[in-house]
Amino acid sequence: MIEIELYDKLLHANHFTILDSYVKANSVLNNSHTALCSVSGGSDSDIMLDIIHRLDESGKVTYYWINTGLEYKATKEHLNELEKKYGIEIVRLKPDKPIPTCVKEYGVPFLSKYVSEQMMRLQKHNFQWEDEPLEVLLQKYPNCKTALQWWCNAYYSPENGIQQMSRFSINRNRFLKEFIIANPPDFPISNKCCEYSKKIPAKHFIKKCGADLEITGIRKAEGGIRSANYKTCCSESKSKGCDTYRPVFWYTDGDKRCYEDFFGVTHSRCYTEYGLKRTGCVGCPFNPRVNDELKIIEQNEPNLYKAAMSLFGKSYEYTAKYQAFVKEMKAKEKEAKKRGLSCSNGNGDTAVQCAV
Ligand code: SF4
Repeated sequence: MIEIELYDKLLHANHFTILDSYVKANSVLNNSHTALCSVSGGSDSDIMLDIIHRLDESGKVTYYWINTGLEYKATKEHLNELEKKYGIEIVRLKPDKPIPTCVKEYGVPFLSKYVSEQMMRLQKHNFQWEDEPLEVLLQKYPNCKTALQWWCNAYYSPENGIQQMSRFSINRNRFLKEFIIANPPDFPISNKCCEYSKKIPAKHFIKKCGADLEITGIRKAEGGIRSANYKTCCSESKSKGCDTYRPVFWYTDGDKRCYEDFFGVTHSRCYTEYGLKRTGCVGCPFNPRVNDELKIIEQNEPNLYKAAMSLFGKSYEYTAKYQAFVKEMKAKEKEAKKRGLSCSNGNGDTAVQCAV
């Protein structure tokens, strides 16, 4: 239920996005019989929890958190604080396999979920990172079509033959193909930790509770693959077995600040003391600013820093090498342009004439 007083206050303060989210959340909650709320301990999640708890008068929502095995001490403390503040229980779930086990068994995440997935598939087929046309590679590695299409920036269908592909191709990451050809990875790459330590345990819990709704704190403005996967605040997921609702999906950074001030929401020490911009798994290699994050982790949670370095060290090194490669290639490209020569376009296309 939305209290009229609260509604009026939000209206008079011109907090329309917040007001909208309350109206929508109220309606979504009313239409659910068993709702789960996935709490991460991050700042977006804090706001989501505040909205849901204010509206959930009957206490029908179950809150849960998954311990991936690589979590900040400050996050764990914050969960205890949230439980006290709202008088709720946040169910702690164990992962199917914690991150350290996944990394040992399957490999290390590198760059992004999608890139890791494709590289993992290619490695499984003992791919030698050859720069050959798709038709040649399909003959050589017949059971690896999707990943080969990604690698070749092309797709194959019996009707249309080979066609150029722009989405879901290695081109999305500049000079990545050139980099891998020059520096084939000597360690296994995989995105399996996300699956076993996050996706699968959540799915099991949804099934166990017979939930018809899962509420998460994803915001469109946060960017990255997590938010890019969604177009709106509600979605249906057959694989998950219930609908998903994202109450803060449309919140801008400004809306977030307004909410924090208006309702007095405070965040974990990860933000207020450490100075992290976002939380989640400690030192996840998918974070584009992981190097800055590592410095902060080393200072504030040295044991976790050691754990992250020992688990993801190869990926950090490989990423740093790739970033240096991109920088070098861009400089060469610029130089070649200056001289009026054409060079590799960084999309895996053959160089016409290269001055470098
Ligand atoms: S977010 Fe990163 S570290 Fe965490 S489970 Fe996913 S890939 Fe692994």
